[in-house]
This record gives sequence, C-alpha cells and structure tokens, in this order.
Amino acid sequence: MQKSCDHIWNEVLDIIRPQINEQSFNTWFVPLKPRTVSDNTISVEIPGKFFSEWLDEHYKNLISSALEDVINQGASIKYVVNSSNGNNGKKEANARARKEEIIPSSAKTKYIKDNLSKFNLRYNFDNFVEGPSNQFAKAVAMVVAEKPGKTKFNPLLIWGGVGLGKTHIAQAIGIHGIENKSLKTVSYVSSKQFTMDFISAIQSKRTKEFSSFYDKVDMLIVDDIEFFIGKESTQEQFFHTFNTLHLKGKQIVLTSDRPPREFSGLDIEERLTSRFQNGLVVDIKAPDLETRVAILKRKAGEEGVNLDSEVALMMATHISKNIRELEGALIRLLAYASMMGQQIDTNLARTVLKDLKVYETKPISIEDIQKMVAGHYDLNENLLRDKTRKQEIVLPRQIAMYLVKEMTNYSLKTTGLHFGGRDHTTVLHAINTVNLMMEQDEQMRETISTLKQKIGYNQL
Ligand code: ADP
Ligand code: MG
Repeated sequence: MQKSCDHIWNEVLDIIRPQINEQSFNTWFVPLKPRTVSDNTISVEIPGKFFSEWLDEHYKNLISSALEDVINQGASIKYVVNSSNGNNGKKEANARARKEEIIPSSAKTKYIKDNLSKFNLRYNFDNFVEGPSNQFAKAVAMVVAEKPGKTKFNPLLIWGGVGLGKTHIAQAIGIHGIENKSLKTVSYVSSKQFTMDFISAIQSKRTKEFSSFYDKVDMLIVDDIEFFIGKESTQEQFFHTFNTLHLKGKQIVLTSDRPPREFSGLDIEERLTSRFQNGLVVDIKAPDLETRVAILKRKAGEEGVNLDSEVALMMATHISKNIRELEGALIRLLAYASMMGQQIDTNLARTVLKDLKVYETKPISIEDIQKMVAGHYDLNENLLRDKTRKQEIVLPRQIAMYLVKEMTNYSLKTTGLHFGGRDHTTVLHAINTVNLMMEQDEQMRETISTLKQKIGYNQL
C-alpha cells in the first residue's frame, strides 16, 4: 500500500528529530507541512522563502539522507511558500518574478543559464548595500564587471574579514559579466574547490584537462585564496593558470581574508605581491551602524517584511562585526515571528539576540552616560566635564554622577576626575542630592528611569 504524504513526512521527521537539538527542530521543522508526494519528490509547505535558504544551508544533508531512507535514493524535497501569509505571497511572487528576469528562459540563452548556475543569484550588485566600509570596493568591482580585462584593475584582489561581503561582491562581478553578455565563460571557484579538483586531476592523471579547462575561461574568480598557503603544487598550477589568463588579457578576481603582505613567509607572498603591482588591492571593512541597519532592512524587504527601524537598530547595534551573523539573526527573527504568530518588535528581537548570545556586552563608560544625559537636557556634553557652576548645568551633572555610581563600577574618585577633576566628596554629595530628590519627586524618578533605559539599551 502506498504511504500517505503525512505518513512519509512523519517518518522523515522521526529520523531528523534525534539528530538536532530540540529548539532547532521546533524552529525549522515543526512549522513545515507536507503537501504532496509524487515520484521521488515530496513537496513541503514553508512559512517563508527564508526557510528554504536556511534549511538548504544547514540541514541539506540531513534531509537528503532521511528522504533516502524513507522514500528512496535520489528522493528530493521541494519547498513551497505558503502564500496565505498576509501579503507575503504577493511579495514572494514579485521577488520570484525579479529573479526570473535575471534568468531569461529562451533556448538561446541556455548558455547564460548554465553559466549562472554556479552563482548565488542573490549575490548581485543590486542587493549589495553600499556604505563607507565597502563603497570603494563596490565601485571598482562594477568597473571591472563592465570592462573585464580592459582596465588597470587586473588582477583585482578584494580582501577583508569573515562575512563582510567578499564572496557577494566577487560573484556580483561574475553575474554582471554574464548578464551583460560581455563574457562567455566565467569560472567562479573557491580555492578549496580548485585544490580538491586539482588533486583529483593528479590522481586520475588528467592535469592537462584541468589546465586547459581553466586556460579557456574569459574570467576567473577564485574565492579565499588564503587556502593556497602551504600548498605548493596547487600554487604552481594556480600561477600557471593565472599567467596564461593574464597574458591573454582575461580578467582575474581574487578574494582573501588578509592583505597580500600577510601571506607571511610563503611562496605565494612574493609571487602575489609582484603580480599585484600591476593590479589593484581593495579591502572591505566592517560596516558602520547605518549600513548594518540598511542591510537588515533590505534583507527583510526581500522577504516581504517591512522591518521597523527600532528593531533594525537594536539588532544592528548588537551584531557589528559580521554581516552573515546579522542575516542569520534576521532569519531567526522572521522564523520566530511566523512560527509563533507574533509581531516583530524589539521584545522579539531581544529574545533572538539573547538566544544567539551574539550581542556584545560593552561595559558602560562614563562618556556614554555623559553623552546621554547631555542629550536629554540638550546641553553640550563638555559642559558636564567643565568647572562651571552654572545652575542649569549643576543638576544634569549631579544626575550623571549618580548614574555612574548606579550603572558602572567606577570609584567615586575616578568619577570625580571625569567630571572636571572634582573630588570624591563632591561626587558623594551629588549622589545624595539625587537620591533625596528621587524620594520626594515623582518626575525625578521618571527622568532617572528614562535615562537608565536609554543608557542600558546597549546592554539589552
Ligand atoms: P565573505 O565572503 O566576506 O565571508 P559573504 O560575501 O559571504 O562574506 O557575505 C556574507 C553575507 O552577508 C552574504 O549573505 C551577503 O549577501 C551578505 N552581505 C555582505 N555584505 C553585504 C552588503 N554590503 N549588502 C548586502 N548584503 C551583504
Ligand atoms: Mg566568502
């Protein structure tokens, strides 16, 4: 007898459940609903597109092997977005339409399609949010994409820390080149893949084929070249390819997690450095707060969600070093919201950030407090550090000293030093004064509580 779709799915879940932690299971598998099963494919409903991305990225192998056990070898899963989720469905459809525009379907363009299949189509220039940290790199990348091999930026090396957009920008160059029809063959490969392919070419005595494959491309993009360090014969092969293409005026784009001068003491250093005298090295830095907020809003928009600025600000404040983490947190936020039918607000964001333990607990500094109090009273913060005894400054200054005592571990003496070199008895007097006022004055209690909240915002 044929098993029902639900039955099959339950068996799949029974295999997956014990292999991952409960929270992940509840977040990523419980909301899925089996729809149909035909031939080798089970179709499963997901609450949003981001689910399929997350599942693919994190559980692809797990799901495939469960399907193999329950259905048969080669069984696959198809994700269908639940279009009854508010207006998400429409947005989804628009997003799909946009995506399809990128991949024209006529037979003539099959070649382009094949070429693009190596790329993550989300990694295009349109989706790359620009800010001071990456502006230059993006500008150069666009020039290179427009005129591959025809500028002075050949080779182009883009370097920067983890999760800052190197792969995104490198792929954007390739995608643009293909869409523009300026290039026929673009090869995008990670240096790890290049190395593994090369090793298996050696094993199967097909190094010639390996060489000639790469020697024929119009553009070569090699991601994360730091992986070549210490791998002498792969380097040898890589430089052979590099030279062949460079001589033919083909564009070469490389990325790495460090600048060439830090390929320390290794062969690759000298060879690269000499080659980069002709090309260009650009770096991508960690994005500033505004850029992080813009990235979050853009990504949420891609999912059909209009992310509230305060929520975006909160997430961007706490995740500052890595855009991939920022995206992961956003996806989790969207998943929680749709799973629990909850609104996306700062409370939910706080829960997500706490779960992820990614927020940075930066100790509160005296300057943070001075800045916030001065802002509240619309004063120049330097006045709080000044000797002046002007009436309108005295109270805010006392309040700031009180907050330093309440919210930090600084001694009275150190506190005094930060407030224009006052001595500890002055600080003590300020604290007592504010305490007394709070006992007697409701408004003062409120002011203090508001200020504490604002200052503590950074702390969650
Ligand atoms: P890297 O290769 O530097 O480790 P990636 O290119 O893989 O980083 O970027 C990590 C994630 O962050 C990707 O999903 C990418 O789309 C996203 N990302 C990075 N920079 C930006 C940006 N400026 N605008 C939008 N998304 C970005
Ligand atoms: Mg990368």
